[in-house]
Amino acid sequence: MSSSAVIRVQQQQGLINHNHHSNSTSEKHTISMFRVFLRAFDYIYLLNTKIFFYFLLMFKRFLRFFFGVWTFIFVTLRGSKKKLIQFQSVKYYNCPLQPLSLHRLHFLPKKILVLDLDETLIHSHHDGLSRVATVKPTGPPDFIVRVEIERHPVRFFVYKRPHVDYFLETVSQWYDLVVFTASMEIYGAAVTERLDNNRNILSRRYFRQHCTLEFGAYSKDLAVVNSDLSRIFILDNSPIAYRSYPLNAIPIKSWFFDPTDTCLLALLPFLDALRFCRDVRSVLGMNLHLHQNLMVTSTTGLTTQVVPSSMR
Ligand SMILES: [Mg+2]
Repeated sequence: MSSSAVIRVQQQQGLINHNHHSNSTSEKHTISMFRVFLRAFDYIYLLNTKIFFYFLLMFKRFLRFFFGVWTFIFVTLRGSKKKLIQFQSVKYYNCPLQPLSLHRLHFLPKKILVLDLDETLIHSHHDGLSRVATVKPTGPPDFIVRVEIERHPVRFFVYKRPHVDYFLETVSQWYDLVVFTASMEIYGAAVTERLDNNRNILSRRYFRQHCTLEFGAYSKDLAVVNSDLSRIFILDNSPIAYRSYPLNAIPIKSWFFDPTDTCLLALLPFLDALRFCRDVRSVLGMNLHLHQNLMVTSTTGLTTQVVPSSMR
């Protein structure tokens, strides 16, 4: 081989080596760029994940704050509404009767309205009784009755059903009122005395000893009060109390502490009209299906009625 040929071969080998070197450098460069890209992607992903969780956390905090504010507003407004309803003066306007109505009343004997006490006109608990947690008083009792039962002094904290005073005052002008309670006389008489408040509208009173014990519950015999069943009816929260006289009964929802209750007021128009009928059974008998349902649910324990405490 000539010297020029050797030089050409060496130059070609050098070129090849040079090309090979430049190729490996660009591959390394590409790989390093790829790594940088992957690292950057990792950082961005990590950053995005952090930002996502940060926003999620903030959103949760916002929701918690929003619902907290909403609950506060809701509870405050509801409390205010209850107070407004509790203290608002409600009146049932007694319209003067027409001469024809007065004439009709003149020929009808005055009817007798028998009133239950516990959970109908009032609710009470005594200082030896632990109350059910779901039923809580909304304030102090209206009055306290101190009696002695089996030589033990007992205090009863009595809460009056909303509008009970106005109810008694109004219906006493339409009916002869009688209190009939399954409670003990010593307690029932003291509570009735406070409800009467020297108005002498609740002078006739019947207690536990006048009830009949049937299937472990006290029922009230209206015939003991008056034998003429065409002009006597009972208002009682417990269907068992008038199980023998479903045609002479008006059911009412059991009351405990609800200050917004208006059941007594809602009854006034009906009671106003009932005094004009000749036989109360002709009107109250329309509720017979209702009593049957109440009787079934009360015996199966589905109603909220309370069997009087053994101490009452
Ligand atoms: Mg009752």
